[in-house]
Amino acid sequence: FTPWLDANAKPYISFQNVTKKFGDFVAVDNLTLNIYEREFYSLLGPSGCGKTTLLRMLAGFEEPSSGEIFLDGVSLKGVPPHKRPVNMMFQSYALFPHMSVRDNIAFGLKQAGIAKAQITERVDAILKLVKLEEFAKRKPDQLSGGQRQRVALARSVVLRPKLLLLDEPLGALDKKLREETQFELMDLQQDLGLTFMIVTHDQEEAMTMSDRIAVMDKGTVIQTGTPAEIYEAPNSRYVADFIGTVNTLEGKIVEKTDKMTTLLGNDGFTIEAATTDRPALTKDKTAWFSIRPEKIKVSRKKPEKQTNAVEGEIWDIGYLGDMTLFNVKLDSGTIMRASVLNAKRTVDDPIGYEDRVWLSFDPDAGIVLER
Ligand code: ATP
Repeated sequence: FTPWLDANAKPYISFQNVTKKFGDFVAVDNLTLNIYEREFYSLLGPSGCGKTTLLRMLAGFEEPSSGEIFLDGVSLKGVPPHKRPVNMMFQSYALFPHMSVRDNIAFGLKQAGIAKAQITERVDAILKLVKLEEFAKRKPDQLSGGQRQRVALARSVVLRPKLLLLDEPLGALDKKLREETQFELMDLQQDLGLTFMIVTHDQEEAMTMSDRIAVMDKGTVIQTGTPAEIYEAPNSRYVADFIGTVNTLEGKIVEKTDKMTTLLGNDGFTIEAATTDRPALTKDKTAWFSIRPEKIKVSRKKPEKQTNAVEGEIWDIGYLGDMTLFNVKLDSGTIMRASVLNAKRTVDDPIGYEDRVWLSFDPDAGIVLER
């Protein structure tokens, strides 16, 4: 499923040079973004970067200050919210307090004039999905925050709108329920063939569920891509830092060929990294080198290669069950993090607190980025 790679595919939603100002404040800044039918698309970014504003403009609750939004090739300019084939689930759920959970969920279906038997069937299925079967008769004020959120989710999903906008839909759920619901949402979206646009500031959630992600900052999109693209090939330090954990080292480019970029790192060791398509990174420039913890090998034995290897002391150890995190203090004082799968740890190279260890990595394990 990769419609964005097909030059002939028409986007389902298209934001074209959209700006939204509140007074002098620019909440969305000349933003262009295409989303395809049946995509599970996430807007990811820190609080206040304009994610919700973008959804609200698509739903019709705000008009862009300039630029235009298209749905299925048709401009949405001036189209009122109820005339758009869009349903939005809000951060504040707006449930009807006097109605039971079942009636809250059934409300939209009744409004749409759907037959009673079918309503019962669809509501039952959704209640099961969000694990609220035993709460069907309760009123919203007799529910926990997480349960209320699931009612709101059920109420949006049961209508099967072609486009569902979800603003932090799982924010109030505990970790376990959240993870289960993530997969259920994905199944549902695929089974019903819907397009989902979701706002989250939880990068793990965005990575798990999305076909593609837009990473945003201050009203603009910094990078779009599949979870793997964003994780493996961030286009900037901002994106690398925002998604997962990353070690960022500073250095000066001392040599650059088509294949290899060589940096003299400020931490006193030479870094060789595969050259990527970044013309601005030229010899003598200062740059960042970003590498994920899982790409670093930890060993008490000195590696044979001189480059991409640095010695340090085990500073912290975090045991996570599937893996162990090592914070290693280099002689320069910099702390680097390495994570090792416990299944891959060997008994002949045990590692404990204050041990001297070598960190090493392959040239294609990290990425050189503009400073
Ligand atoms: P969060 O994750 O906290 O929900 P967000 O990325 O969704 O954040 P938005 O709600 O889109 O952010 O808000 C973007 C910016 O626009 C914020 O700085 C916010 O204060 C501002 N803003 C949003 N709505 C209004 C409004 N009606 N009037 C004035 N400023 C607004």
